[in-house]
Amino acid sequence: MLKKEKYLQKIYQGNIQRYGSNPKIRKVMVGPLAIGGGAPIIVQSMCSTDTRDIKATLAQIHRLTEAGCELVRVAVPDESASAALSAIVAEAGVPVVADIHFHYKRALEAVKAGVAKIRINPGNIGSADRVKAVVDACGSAGIPIRIGVNSGSLPDDILDRDSHKVTAHGMVDAALREVELLEREGFHDIIVSMKATETSVMIESNRLFRQKSDIPLHLGITEAGLPGYGSIKSAIGIGSLLIDQIGETIRVSLSSPPEEEIEVCWWILEATGVRRRSPELVGCPTCGRIEIDLIELMKDVQKILKDVSIPVKVAVMGCVVNGPGEARDADIGIVGGKGKGMIMRNGEIVRSVDEDKLLSAFGEELKILCYEREVANDKDLS
Ligand code: SF4
Repeated sequence: MLKKEKYLQKIYQGNIQRYGSNPKIRKVMVGPLAIGGGAPIIVQSMCSTDTRDIKATLAQIHRLTEAGCELVRVAVPDESASAALSAIVAEAGVPVVADIHFHYKRALEAVKAGVAKIRINPGNIGSADRVKAVVDACGSAGIPIRIGVNSGSLPDDILDRDSHKVTAHGMVDAALREVELLEREGFHDIIVSMKATETSVMIESNRLFRQKSDIPLHLGITEAGLPGYGSIKSAIGIGSLLIDQIGETIRVSLSSPPEEEIEVCWWILEATGVRRRSPELVGCPTCGRIEIDLIELMKDVQKILKDVSIPVKVAVMGCVVNGPGEARDADIGIVGGKGKGMIMRNGEIVRSVDEDKLLSAFGEELKILCYEREVANDKDLS
């Protein structure tokens, strides 16, 4: 059984600070987890293990959740994969999503196994009877369906219409066509993704879809590439939409172990300010006025922050000329000077100490700040 209370506590009330998604978007429940309707933006990923290998799949799911993944998808290519699902669902500790292509029986088996969501395109599973069977099973079990449109597999008639180019209109039309197949059966617990390898197409598709529907959106760039470039592409695509309050759940797709995707997801959430779970460390870019070994100092500060799970903003600045002004926005800051330095809180100098005491003074002030935040959070939750 999913440890619902513990899981929800982590998502909604723990050290992970909550920022809502757009409250006007349709709320869809994925197990105990809300997507849309003002809920926090949810981080998800997909296992790269063979689902039939239950031990390896569970081990990867646990690594993913440890890294901050809140919803995990597994591939269900055949009957033996769906036979493994109930054991995976039982021990996963997070809601499990079954990824199904073409065969409606896999969807029925996945629902029976207790998955929290299925990803399937009704247009791929054949007759209306089969679509109805899947919709009925999901409806009775309270399981939503994610429709996934990918730039690499748009329907031929849409590609023909658009001169064989992948366009945002084509992506949206393909998604709405799938939505219609479900809504015609009276099924509305739907999430949609429109993933493209072209960042601009992905952004435009999601913007366009949002103008037409209140269905929650799962954001991602498909085939983004290796972690460096792929992370930048994903950050631009997902990040620019999140800043406009478009998107309710995200997945970064990298050519790497999926555990690496989770860190990038969280960086995107934190850099856009949409959701924070840890401190943000900013530093000056350094220039000819620098009076301290800023890079080493930042590395030391980063080590201290590893143990902090409260989302405070920390600034490290290199000189007293511009440092105090540039650190003004931070909750706590260090400003380096000649043989001396200052600790700032909310733009005010709170301590001035010799350089060798700077780090310990920062640690002391940080502890006080975290304590104050915890007390404030406890009050909010009581
Ligand atoms: S804080 Fe000082 S050292 Fe850093 S970039 Fe600004 S002026 Fe240069």
